[in-house]
Amino acid sequence: METLAPLFYLVASVCFIMALRGLSGPETARTGLLFGMAGMAIAVVTTLMMPIVASYWWIIPAIVIGGSVGTGIALKIKMTDLPQLMAAFHSLVGLAAVFVASAAFTNPEAYGIGVAGDIKTASLIEMALGVAVGAITFTGSIIAFGKLQGLISGKPVTFPMQHPLNAGLGLLMLALIVMLCTTESGFVFLLLIGVALALGILMIIPIGGADMPVIVSMLNSYSGWAAAGIGFTLHNNLLIIVGALVGASGAILSYIMCKGMNRSFLNVLLGGFGGEQAAGPAAAAGDRAVKIGSAEDAAYIMKNAASVIVVPGYGMAVAQAQHAVREMADILKKEGVTVKYAIHPVAGRMPGHMNVLLAEASVPYDEVFELEDINRDFPMTDVVYVIGANDITNPAAKNDPSSPIYGMPVLDVEKAKTVLFVKRSMGSGYAGIDNPLFYGDNTMMLLGDAKKMTEDIVKALEH
Ligand code: NDP
Repeated sequence: METLAPLFYLVASVCFIMALRGLSGPETARTGLLFGMAGMAIAVVTTLMMPIVASYWWIIPAIVIGGSVGTGIALKIKMTDLPQLMAAFHSLVGLAAVFVASAAFTNPEAYGIGVAGDIKTASLIEMALGVAVGAITFTGSIIAFGKLQGLISGKPVTFPMQHPLNAGLGLLMLALIVMLCTTESGFVFLLLIGVALALGILMIIPIGGADMPVIVSMLNSYSGWAAAGIGFTLHNNLLIIVGALVGASGAILSYIMCKGMNRSFLNVLLGGFGGEQAAGPAAAAGDRAVKIGSAEDAAYIMKNAASVIVVPGYGMAVAQAQHAVREMADILKKEGVTVKYAIHPVAGRMPGHMNVLLAEASVPYDEVFELEDINRDFPMTDVVYVIGANDITNPAAKNDPSSPIYGMPVLDVEKAKTVLFVKRSMGSGYAGIDNPLFYGDNTMMLLGDAKKMTEDIVKALEH
């Protein structure tokens, strides 16, 4: 098996590359997932067949327990809770890196990297980097999970001298890595883990609101690099390749998201975003006039339109309104109305969230457009049906330099003749800021649950 293993690992690596390729588009995503599952099955079985595996007594129960817990969670998890699930799983990858590095440090003979007190320098460097990145990923992901799950406040937690403190801890961590490689001290090893755990917490607490998607993707990248680090310690080429694939793809996704928000990566990491103005639900319309309409009004307006653009957001996911939306679009198309869908890169709570929901409702792919491809269409459009979206339409991102979302590209929905906003209240979205569009002359608010409202519109259109 030992001679055949590199061949099987190569096949598994190709499967993982095909998986990433498939996952880059909704049409090919399912095939991509199948490649990923096949690659992982080949990787696990090949590793278990290696002669180095002395006993299955610990491995099989661990696989059964871990596999059952994972399957249970996967079957139960709601689509809207996926980002925090990803954060929770990344934390486990980080923890695994810390455990493997600790085991290798205390028992280097078993890993073939030297003897206690005389570990090879290259192995010490790999181990130190793996343990540091793993510990940061572990606590950072737990904080991200807590914020996304609402267990701790999603608002940025900031305090004086925060950035100098983080920078100081970062430098201390580097110094400890150098000390560990030169002294091989157990105390330094533990101190390194402690500092990295603290840095993971301190790096993520100042990040709030709308920056969380970038952070989850960044932690995904970190978990990949931590896994690659373990790969070096374990002399496992497949783990190095897979870790590097996850690390690189997560880093590229973070970069694309930062570009989508018109922010620099450093600016995201420095945090504090969505803080000062996060006034909570913008409950008070004050003396500003708001036009509130009914399902019948919306049906009448859309039936008489030539073109409708649907802008889905997080609320559509919560209400599971995608099937009702497609039904509404089908009726409108039969009436001769052109229907398109506009997808913002951070609509919902995870990258590709809206694409997945629309694909599930069998919305044709050629009707779905990304922000940069559809923004110029809004001025020529009669009606925009904004369903459960808020931040991604907020013009403050374009014209209010004091807004925490200033600079983030948004869908120019206000340029259409009529904007219909389906949501339950005048409350704010994820970034916690007021949306001036609700009070626009060409806006009509349709207050209610997204699914119920769309179903009522469908009924009104049918009659
Ligand atoms: P928002 O969170 O800005 O707004 C969603 C709106 O949906 C809310 O204002 C809410 O208003 C409404 N809503 C909630 N439930 C329902 C329901 N059952 N029926 C009708 N409406 C409902 O979402 P967007 O999609 O516009 O923007 C995404 C935001 O999330 C951005 O700030 C983005 O940065 C952030 N984010 C994105 C991630 C990603 O990767 N895509 C990950 C994490 C965060 P009301 O309560 O009045 O009904």
